[in-house]
Amino acid sequence: MRNKIRLLTPGPTPLPERVRLVLAQDMIHHRKSVFKETLHALQGKLRTLFGTQEVVLPLSCSGTGAMTAAVHGLFKPGEKVLVVEGGKFGQRWRNIAQTRGIECVTLEVPWGEAVTSQAIQEALTKDPSLRGVLVQASETSTGVLHPIKDIAALTSKTDVLLVVDGISAVGISPCPMDDWKIDCLLTGSQKGLMLPPGLALLALSSRAWKKAEEISSDCFYFNLPKERDNCLKGQTLFTSPVNLIMGLNESMDMLLEADLDELYRKQWALTMLTRTGVQALGLDFLAPSHFTWGLTSVRLPSGVSAPNVVKMAAEYFGVYMAGGQDHLKSSVIRIGHMGWLDWADVLAGLHALQYSLVQVGGYSASRDYLEQALNAYHHALLVQPGQAIPPAHS
Ligand SMILES: *Cc1c(COP(=O)(O)O)cnc(C)c1O
Repeated sequence: MRNKIRLLTPGPTPLPERVRLVLAQDMIHHRKSVFKETLHALQGKLRTLFGTQEVVLPLSCSGTGAMTAAVHGLFKPGEKVLVVEGGKFGQRWRNIAQTRGIECVTLEVPWGEAVTSQAIQEALTKDPSLRGVLVQASETSTGVLHPIKDIAALTSKTDVLLVVDGISAVGISPCPMDDWKIDCLLTGSQKGLMLPPGLALLALSSRAWKKAEEISSDCFYFNLPKERDNCLKGQTLFTSPVNLIMGLNESMDMLLEADLDELYRKQWALTMLTRTGVQALGLDFLAPSHFTWGLTSVRLPSGVSAPNVVKMAAEYFGVYMAGGQDHLKSSVIRIGHMGWLDWADVLAGLHALQYSLVQVGGYSASRDYLEQALNAYHHALLVQPGQAIPPAHS
């Protein structure tokens, strides 16, 4: 008999039944009142999630569309930006910016490490003509969490705009936009938000809105000021992704059922569960210190092929994990633990990993990895409400 499918991939992630039922409802018209009311109701929820007083725009595109909208809306051809490049998605920032004719200064970071705020400071000091910093909150290709709060503390003292790809961070680990003084924060629907792919969200600080209004975007589809005017009327510029918006309204209710701290604590606890289990299996991490809370990237012992392990875990257990990217394709496995997943799903992932390693790699590992992982999970959850969870880059 077939197994239940468990998506432990770093996006798309599994969908809760409550959201699926909303997605399955009859189509409604996007210019009529029910839709407008939903979009208005969503604003408050999205502002809570983003930690901002500003409008949060729904965009009808995947996450990369929102990255594109940010670059086109905030910078002119010929302007210069600093790109933090420590993985695939950092590279994507550069590719998008260069396509727009923006000059990129690349700050290269070894894959698996986080950029330091000192390195950002040096780059900004060295080149006063930089107009923006483009960075990931969580670099999903490596599982690294960049120190956004520290970077924002630098950029907010200058007129350099900080543009943050929070696609695998929003709803997963704290990234309060206004508190930290982020100028642009964006995310996609298929990671922490428990929705199918195809919807993105983007918010700008007030000074970023000023810049966006100054720039005449040469892009017909993505026009942030026009999109904002529509959004304030409960509308989107073009036909709305109606089902995804209705689904988002439901998933936001689920995410905000308790408070955000509780959501982040759960993500932290799942991260501790995964990391403890992986460590008990005798494996190393690609991101040993600055790690994200939505996925864990694991280095496999030499000679064990990641694609084979991933394949066996999927075929034998119904557990879908991801391999590494580029040069890490065959040596790294990424275990996603974001979205509608709980401790039992992640334990299933650990077991599928262990079993597949033994079968495919002839690897032998301790047997109490599951117990150790569960202990770490319970320990992490014991953090009392209101008590700070460990700092974002502990
Ligand atoms: C998934 C992801 C993207 C890409 O999003 P798409 O929806 O595939 O366009 C970009 N950046 C990060 C950090 C991601 O995790």
